[in-house]
Amino acid sequence: MPDAYTVKVVPCLSDNYAYIIHSSQTGGTALVDAPEADPIVSALRQEGWTLDTILITHHHDDHIQGIEQLRNEFDVTVIGHDRDRRRLPTLDREVADGSTFDLCGMTASVIDVSGHTVGHIAYIIPGAAFTADSLMALGCGRVFEGTPPMMWASLQKLACLPDSTLIYSGHEYTLANGEFALTIEPDNAELVDRMADIREKRSGNLPTVPTTLALEKATNPFLRAALPEVKDRVGMANASDAEVFAEIRKRKDRF
Ligand code: ZN
Ligand code: FE
Repeated sequence: MPDAYTVKVVPCLSDNYAYIIHSSQTGGTALVDAPEADPIVSALRQEGWTLDTILITHHHDDHIQGIEQLRNEFDVTVIGHDRDRRRLPTLDREVADGSTFDLCGMTASVIDVSGHTVGHIAYIIPGAAFTADSLMALGCGRVFEGTPPMMWASLQKLACLPDSTLIYSGHEYTLANGEFALTIEPDNAELVDRMADIREKRSGNLPTVPTTLALEKATNPFLRAALPEVKDRVGMANASDAEVFAEIRKRKDRF
């Protein structure tokens, strides 16, 4: 159903994004991650929306530290991963990989996308995935708690969503991610085109999110580690997909 909901992008802190999902049909309003409360409250006031649900993707401070203040201002249900309950703000509802629940009159589902942290989840609604620090525009989160094969498996799960899925990630890292992507695939014409678009958007201080899964599959080196041309480019023609992913991740960490 088109236009069943709108998503408002809320820049927070220096480079984080929070996302407000609002259904015009039910009037429901949900938030994905709360890097800081003030810009989120301003955005809600501007639209005249009342927050009822907060979805947490993972435990890092820059995704949860606004929750306490939002709880004081709104009557919210806070949802997060059951296995991470001890390091998340108090949860009103616990979910896990494969959970589904009603969100603003839609069916939302949960995918475990561990790697950046163990216990990181993505939330999927019709047409959109909120991936935070797992799959990002032209990149993926740094692997802090998990392992490269774990992150690779998580990205593969997201890659199974429909190509048209809009990808809402947690940070505005796209320009730096793209500069790195060009070191892996300098001759990828779609990547070169995309970078021109990204440079234009960022010079106007515009967000580069959301992106689409199709565009990520065509240009994001972290989703492309299984391709023979990418394996060749990193000198690992006979390595496994996960090994090539790990090498690309390692190079990005040093970039
Ligand atoms: Zn994080
Ligand atoms: Fe983050």
